[in-house]
Amino acid sequence: MLYSKSVIELSKMLEEKRISSVEIAESYISRIEKYNKEINAYITFNPEQLLKDAAESDQRRSSGKTKSSFDGIPVAVKDNISTAGIRTTCGSKILENFIPPYNAAVYQKLCDNGFLLLGKTNMDEFAMGSTNESSFFGPVKNPHDFSCVPGGSSGGSAAAVSAMMAPAALGSDTGGSIRQPASFCGVVGMKPTYGKVSRFGLVAYASSLDQIGPITSTVDDAAAMLEIISGKDGRDSTSMHSENDFSPAELDGNIKGMKLGVSEEYFRGADEETASIIRKTIDKLKNLGAEIVEISMKMNDYAIPVYYLIATAEASSNLGRYDGIKYGYHSPAAGKLSDLYKLTRNEGFGNEVKRRIMLGTFALSSGYYDAYYVKALKCRTLIVEDFKNAFKNVDAIISPVSPVPAFKAGEKINDPLQMYLLDILTISANLAAIPGISVPAGKTGSGLPVGIQIMGNHFEEKKILNIAKAVEAVSEKISVDF
Ligand code: GLN
Repeated sequence: MLYSKSVIELSKMLEEKRISSVEIAESYISRIEKYNKEINAYITFNPEQLLKDAAESDQRRSSGKTKSSFDGIPVAVKDNISTAGIRTTCGSKILENFIPPYNAAVYQKLCDNGFLLLGKTNMDEFAMGSTNESSFFGPVKNPHDFSCVPGGSSGGSAAAVSAMMAPAALGSDTGGSIRQPASFCGVVGMKPTYGKVSRFGLVAYASSLDQIGPITSTVDDAAAMLEIISGKDGRDSTSMHSENDFSPAELDGNIKGMKLGVSEEYFRGADEETASIIRKTIDKLKNLGAEIVEISMKMNDYAIPVYYLIATAEASSNLGRYDGIKYGYHSPAAGKLSDLYKLTRNEGFGNEVKRRIMLGTFALSSGYYDAYYVKALKCRTLIVEDFKNAFKNVDAIISPVSPVPAFKAGEKINDPLQMYLLDILTISANLAAIPGISVPAGKTGSGLPVGIQIMGNHFEEKKILNIAKAVEAVSEKISVDF
């Protein structure tokens, strides 16, 4: 079945002319038509266009004009990444019919390499959430257990790859939104160093934390996709020339002599099965020749309040642009201008987004600014220092991705604080701007995937991908049974 192949396998088969791009497209189209009704991973899916694009790619290949070895491979893109002429909803009613006039830098790079758009994936509204339950387009189901959440906010991207409805997808990660759904769905998800990938055309949630990255079924695919989307872009002033450039072919999974930091703080509150899967995996890495070093990440205790002050403060400012005038939804009931603002925002945003705008506006308001926002910034520096010190002694830090595996849909949606607390292991990497990856490490007794997180120093993607490859080699392969 073509839909079960990795990006690299598909690329080889295309290069050897054993398959056509149209055949790949047909394989995914029938898969999506069969399972997307239930899983709801896609918001926008246009099979006719895909078949047309695939036929054009086949044409390019037969006339020796392929754009890259990936020409003709379809990929899914999270619906907060702008695609010119194709609606980009951000999972929100306010952008339900928004059609961007330009491409995000990452999407342009995919197109330049001949990748085809498979569809736009479902997500928590404005990427705010950890379960994909806050989407205006309905929740996404976890392909490993339809009664469970797929994680969020890139739940559609992770579920699509996990259910083999896409060979690869792009997600965005502000506080764990690539890594946590990857962990819940049993796939690989990587958040690159802040600045490695251009954010141009990514609908902003919290600009100092947002980063785009790949969600794939293998570590090699993650490396290949990362190489394609990364690089400096003049339109995102925080993007940088990728230091430590490497080619995915250089990854060998050799971790002999590497020092891997393990912090007990990261296991506090983890459920037993998750902790045991992660500890067993760490033992296996030790057997492969890595040295396990105990470290202490004391500042992680402050990560949740710091993140939820900074992220909401930035969000309250970024989301100010949705006022019914320039973008998207426009309340039909409004008579005068001030009513237009109020009604549009009241009708267009969902509850979680409203909650965060209010929290952020409060944290930034005069009189409270120093006590909340500035304090959070100072504390962010302490978290950065914690990592700096750790990386003096270790090559990478290993932990669970989430303290718990996927849980039942509806279980936590009415308790935002409980939901926020689950982000405890992923948000520090965003606050410190370092790269992190989630790789499947095992399954719980009830068959739910559990991912292990590997975090590295700035621009040390190669190192953490190598460790990820080692994890992949010693862990059972996790795939859905349909
Ligand atoms: N779950 C976190 C939040 O709700 C992270 C979201 C993200 O990374 N986009 O903010």
